[in-house]
Amino acid sequence: MIDFEAITSLSEYYNLHTHTQFCDGHAPMSEMAAAAAALHYTTLGFTPHGPVHIESPCNMSRDYIPAYFAECDRLRQLYAGRMEILRGMEIDYLDPRHGPSSQYYADLGLDYSIGSVHFVANRKGEQWDCDGSPERFGRYVREHFCGDLRYVVEKYFAAVCDMLTRGGFHLLGHFDKIGRNADAVEPGVEDCEYYLRGVEDVLACIHDTGVAVELNTKYLKDTGRLFPNVRWLPMVMETGATLVVNSDAHYPDKLDNGRPEALKLIE
Ligand SMILES: [Zn+2]
Ligand SMILES: [Zn+2]
Repeated sequence: MIDFEAITSLSEYYNLHTHTQFCDGHAPMSEMAAAAAALHYTTLGFTPHGPVHIESPCNMSRDYIPAYFAECDRLRQLYAGRMEILRGMEIDYLDPRHGPSSQYYADLGLDYSIGSVHFVANRKGEQWDCDGSPERFGRYVREHFCGDLRYVVEKYFAAVCDMLTRGGFHLLGHFDKIGRNADAVEPGVEDCEYYLRGVEDVLACIHDTGVAVELNTKYLKDTGRLFPNVRWLPMVMETGATLVVNSDAHYPDKLDNGRPEALKLIE
């Protein structure tokens, strides 16, 4: 069982959320590992977007899992004694039957997994990726959710809560990432009662499950925004959850993006 407390207290030089050639990352794992070694990382975790049963260009295919594991093992040997390499996965929650709690992922033999919600189902049951650009998100809300932003936000947080309740993963990924896109569609939405209720429900689930929580720095430099939003951080810390500071890097030169600033913030 992975010990996030041990990893995060060993040094500040770690990152447990990275994407490479096996999903929508923009460099091979070897280049990500070399960048991590140059930063004197003690631990590097790879987390390709796991296979899903719906069409998604960002997610890895089941067929690539053996090659992914083989490359993890090769790099683990290459950096033995200098940096620990972990074979992880960022697993999508789609619905109660398809998510991190599915037996398929448990049987893979991962070192750890991140549970994340990227897709939200509309009233017809179609899954739409709400994690992309604010422009695309705005279009999806108009075209596939009848312009009902509240429905999308409530569905999103309900999915995060259901994922937490069902378990099967080790680290909660960017739990309020919908906030960035929702705020672009309707500025100030994070002050709406329904939005606040969604965050409160997630915080209660974090408290009840004792799961570790990611502080995702991917957009800190570009937008000044962390996931979770800094305004929720004191409440997250009150739950007693272990915080893991990850950059969600898709490029080697962005591996440490925002991490030093976020680490200073939580100090
Ligand atoms: Zn993600
Ligand atoms: Zn990610």
